[in-house]
Amino acid sequence: FLMIRRPPRSTRKESSAASDVYKRQIDNISNSFNQLLQKFNAQQNYLETLTVQDALTGITNRRGLEAFAKDIVLGWHKEQKGFSAMMIDVDHFKAFNDQYGHLEGDNALVAVAKSLAEQVSTYEAIVSRYGGEEFCIIFSECDPNIIRPIAEKICRAIEQLHMPNKIGNRQWVTVSIGVLVVNGEVSNATQYSFSDVLQQADEQLYLAKQAGRNTVKLQCFTQ
Ligand code: GH3
Ligand code: MG
Ligand code: MG
Repeated sequence: FLMIRRPPRSTRKESSAASDVYKRQIDNISNSFNQLLQKFNAQQNYLETLTVQDALTGITNRRGLEAFAKDIVLGWHKEQKGFSAMMIDVDHFKAFNDQYGHLEGDNALVAVAKSLAEQVSTYEAIVSRYGGEEFCIIFSECDPNIIRPIAEKICRAIEQLHMPNKIGNRQWVTVSIGVLVVNGEVSNATQYSFSDVLQQADEQLYLAKQAGRNTVKLQCFTQ
C-alpha cells in the first residue's frame, strides 16, 4: 500500500519543483514494480514449463500429455475431429539395465525420446514420456494408411540407433508400438474419454509384445 503525502502549500515555483520530485519518485517505484512483475512472470512461465516437462528427456511428461489430450478430446466430441494415439514401450529394457546399468539406461531413454521427436517433427503431433520406458504420441492425423507407416518407420529408426541390448538372438534396443486410430465420426463419442483411447492403444501394444516385439499393431477405435 502506497501513501503519497500531499505537498505543503507553497509558492508556485516551489510547488512545481516538489511535484517534479514526486513524479520522479512515482516513476522509479513503478519502474521497479514493472521489473519485479516481469521477473515474476518469467519465473511463473519457467515453473509452468517444469510441471509439464519430463526432467530426464526434456519432452512433455504425462501431465502435459493429459492437458493436451483435453483439447484433442474436445475436438473429437464437439467437432468430430479424428486423431491417433501411439503407445510405445522399449523392449526388454530391464535386461538393458541389468547389462549396462541404470545410468546407461537413462541415456538410452534420452536417445529414444530424441529419436521419437525427430521422427514426428514434420507432423502435427505431441511426443510425451508416459512413464518409465513408455512413451505416448498423439497425432492429429486419423488415416490408418498414413499412421501405420509412421509407426513402422519409428520402429526401424529406434533399431537403427544401434544401442546394444543382447538377449537371445536380439542385438539392439527396439520398441513395440500399439496404435489406436480414432475416426472423427465415432457415434456417441462423448461417452468415451482419453483413458478409453489409451486403454485400446495399450491392448494393441500388448499384442505387439505378444507378436515378438519390435513391431506395430494398429486398431481403429471400437465401441
Ligand atoms: P518388455 O519388452 O515386456 O517391455 O520388457 P521390459 O523389460 O522392458 O519390461 P519391464 O516392465 O519388465 O521392465 C521395465 C524396465 O524399465 C524396468 C525398469 O527398471 C526400467 N525403467 C523404467 N524407467 C526407467 C528409467 O527412468 N531409467 C532406467 N534406467 N530404467 C528405467
Ligand atoms: Mg513398460
Ligand atoms: Mg518395456
